[in-house]
Amino acid sequence: MKKQHGESAPENNTRAKVSVGRIIGKSALAFSVTLGIGLVPAAAVTAGAVAVARPEHTKELLYALKGDLTPAEQAIRDAGEKAMGVDVPVRCAPIPQTQEGVHINGYTHMKDGPLPAAIRMEDQACDGFMRVVSRQEPFSEDEVKAVAASVGSATHEYVHARWNTSDESLTDCYAFQNSYYMTIAAGAAPEVADQIAGTIAVERPKVAPAEYKTSPECRADGAQDLGYDIAYFPIVS
Ligand SMILES: [Zn+2]
Repeated sequence: MKKQHGESAPENNTRAKVSVGRIIGKSALAFSVTLGIGLVPAAAVTAGAVAVARPEHTKELLYALKGDLTPAEQAIRDAGEKAMGVDVPVRCAPIPQTQEGVHINGYTHMKDGPLPAAIRMEDQACDGFMRVVSRQEPFSEDEVKAVAASVGSATHEYVHARWNTSDESLTDCYAFQNSYYMTIAAGAAPEVADQIAGTIAVERPKVAPAEYKTSPECRADGAQDLGYDIAYFPIVS
């Protein structure tokens, strides 16, 4: 599951080297909000989420972000900055579940002119993320899927913000590759990061709605390979 690459490890803020041309045409429209889909049973997934225009949410979230950060919000924001070199505020709060059969774990307000990007994470996903903070022991089989889903969602939202893309397939591909570093950035042991990233690589493809399915280029040495020393790619059996 662990892919080793020949390139040396880039530093935090420069790890994300990607050709701009690869993203052009996939950039988010103004006001677009992207939805993060949690790991839910495949049978329950009925549709892919879409980027939708909801400018009022940008105002609402930026207003909400004026308050102090909770420990979970601080931990996720710090990890996102360390792992992907982008400082994006995050708010943990209930998210209205508007799509039947799909659980929304988070969404990202894309940068819009003077309005910066901002992220909302569902409360349970924030709780799950907190369980990897400073974690030194691998999780049990019973625990790991839920924790991995939370880390995967946080990583996914920060990828949206970092690459300013609303392309869910590309975002998931980059999230696969960044989830190891997101877990390390939360202070977890490499063994834990390996377990989390490996679980995402196995479990996420089972439940990804059509729009989130990764491209054949999402593989080692494929066009969407970010060239990290340690990267996980979707494992589809
Ligand atoms: Zn998304």
